[in-house]
Amino acid sequence: MKAPAFDYLLAEHLDDVFEAFAAFGDEAQILAGGQSLMPTLNMRLSHPRLLIDINRLEELAGIEDDGKTIRIGALTRHAQIEVSATIGTRLPLIARAIEHVAHPAIRSRGTFGGSVALADPAAELPACVLAYGGSIVVQGPGGRRSIAAEDYFLGLYETARAPDEVLIETRIAAPEAGERTFFIEFARRHGDFAIVGVAGRASIEDRVVRRLRIVVFGSEPAPTLARKAADAAIGAPLDELPHEAIAEALTAELDPMENLQGSRAFKLHLTRTLVRRALETLGEAP
Ligand code: FAD
Repeated sequence: MKAPAFDYLLAEHLDDVFEAFAAFGDEAQILAGGQSLMPTLNMRLSHPRLLIDINRLEELAGIEDDGKTIRIGALTRHAQIEVSATIGTRLPLIARAIEHVAHPAIRSRGTFGGSVALADPAAELPACVLAYGGSIVVQGPGGRRSIAAEDYFLGLYETARAPDEVLIETRIAAPEAGERTFFIEFARRHGDFAIVGVAGRASIEDRVVRRLRIVVFGSEPAPTLARKAADAAIGAPLDELPHEAIAEALTAELDPMENLQGSRAFKLHLTRTLVRRALETLGEAP
């Protein structure tokens, strides 16, 4: 199928985007890498009257590290994340996750901001942003605001970003030295969206878990912090992790979507297995 007819605006400045939103309201839609939007247009699942192409907005591109915070501009391509030394050394969780995002052709166009804006429940990057406790900076006609990741991912493709707000950048506080991260996902094929994935970070002192964040994605409507499971593990020695208590906590706090990819029970079982495997990697040499 071919996309329905739409008008096209190549924005030269952010103000062009806000003017277009003012004129077209929710009938205008931003075009970034187009890797999710164009298929939905071609399948006629979406009918915008205007596409606002933001690819020329250089202020939305690039990765910066000021020592305290790493800023990932919305237009940063997945392929740039893959080769970034800053991401590799400062945000290893994202460096590990990015190779699971689709395939090279899609990664050459798809953007970090597009993935966070769309908030596909099975997308890897939103899960990493939540695991790092990052914040999402958006700008609309009322100005710029920063939303903590915990408050940003609200539900199935639902975020705290208003329809007339542009996602500007994601900001992540530089992790402390020695922090460990873990990432594991189950997908039908490498590069497919995850059926269930687990991303997280941990601080370990004297082989005891001191801090831990576990994010489950793919199975829940939005990336979800498994707080009770993390609490069950905090304070435990790495060699004696309370796997039964962690599994019970996951069962209590998660509510997987039942769909063609599997039943609720199957996804809970998979999640418990993946969390166990992920936490077992914490005992390995960093
Ligand atoms: P677009 O498609 O341009 O836009 C997506 C949505 O976000 C649109 O609604 C658009 O209006 C909005 N948007 C984009 N940028 C902004 C912004 N700055 N401010 C406000 N709104 C904005 N992704 C994964 O995470 N994991 C996968 O395994 C995976 N597999 C894929 C497999 C295939 C075959 C394909 C085609 C895609 C796959 N993707 C996967 C999606 C890919 O990562 C996309 O690049 C990403 O989801 C969206 O980024 P984009 O820049 O292409 O956004």
